[in-house]
Amino acid sequence: HINPNIYDPIKFDDWFIDTSKPEYTKMNATMVSLVRNEELADMLESIEQFEASFNHKYHYDWVFLNDKEFTPRFKKQVSEKCSGNVKFGLVPKEHWSYPDFIDQDKAAQARIDMSHIIYGASESYRFMCRYQSGFFWRHPIMLEYDWYWRVEPSTRYPCDIPDDLFKYMNDNKKIYGFTQSLHEYHETIPSLFDSVLTFTNEHPEYVPHKNFASFISEDDGETYNGCHFWSNFEIANMKLWRSKQYVEFFDYLDQQGGFFYERHGDAPVHSVFASIFLPMDQIEYLNIGYYHIPFWNVPYAVGKNSDSEETLLEQTKEKYLSLNCKVDPREDFTINGFSCGEQYFKQKKLRTLPTVPDKDA
Ligand code: GDP
Ligand code: MN
Repeated sequence: HINPNIYDPIKFDDWFIDTSKPEYTKMNATMVSLVRNEELADMLESIEQFEASFNHKYHYDWVFLNDKEFTPRFKKQVSEKCSGNVKFGLVPKEHWSYPDFIDQDKAAQARIDMSHIIYGASESYRFMCRYQSGFFWRHPIMLEYDWYWRVEPSTRYPCDIPDDLFKYMNDNKKIYGFTQSLHEYHETIPSLFDSVLTFTNEHPEYVPHKNFASFISEDDGETYNGCHFWSNFEIANMKLWRSKQYVEFFDYLDQQGGFFYERHGDAPVHSVFASIFLPMDQIEYLNIGYYHIPFWNVPYAVGKNSDSEETLLEQTKEKYLSLNCKVDPREDFTINGFSCGEQYFKQKKLRTLPTVPDKDA
């Protein structure tokens, strides 16, 4: 029960700008890629497709972050492919190492015990997930920007992206945008939801009315269904992560040790936070052509519950063709059982095609 006097959810009304003003040019936004030197070829592939589908029209900046110095070769080749300003940032050691409250022997044992789980034995993966959860938005280069679009190496953008999605987010008062959602492996986050509930119970005043908790829990907050926005793609306003509410949330999870004693991903951490602590209207499915191994998002039409299947099929064909998609539409993952598309559409009272269109669609 929330005392109205202490009701203190994230206040975001002034996070948006008036893009109809004559002095507006473009959003204060950047692409961001945390990437290793060894991933140069995969990064170049992503940049090439991303520039062709979207950024050649807008020339947004691109920030590359790495826990090691980028090689001159990496910097040169990447700079040649980006159409906007390019910046290279080194991750400070204190953002990519053990905080002093972590028992490193216990962390090492956890890596052995979890070696049967994907990335369960990896130390660097854990630093990466903790960095994406708690630090990238504090990097001095990132502090210059409000909005970011996360782009990973080896991702694909098979359809045109005609709209400036940063501006779309801003103009529609969206804060967190995703393209794919799916169920997390429970073994990577056994204690995450208990920690989240403890934090939330300590701070009921942070929970806004009309939040999106029903997306992540289908039994009224009893258990976590594992649904999360797949964070290899994200478009979001970093003021979300810079909010006092998120900083306290991250610090609390960090203290619990789940980034190291378990293998908490940044995706469930971001997603659970956004779902509980943002109004659901601020979270948006950005329905673009996208691929991250092993799943595709094909931009099917999304309509109201009352729209018929024929209408949606017609609109999907139109959309698919007008966007010049170079992907087999049957590859779409949105309504697959492992996806959380169904949960999303249900809560938002939307629908998409229940079955994939046939070959000649
Ligand atoms: P997955 O998508 O969960 O399989 O994980 P990825 O291997 O794709 O890693 C997620 C992102 O972090 C990618 O952009 C990687 O390039 C980056 N990344 C992962 N590990 C490291 C690392 O040790 N150093 C750096 N600099 N980047 C990393
Ligand atoms: Mn990846």
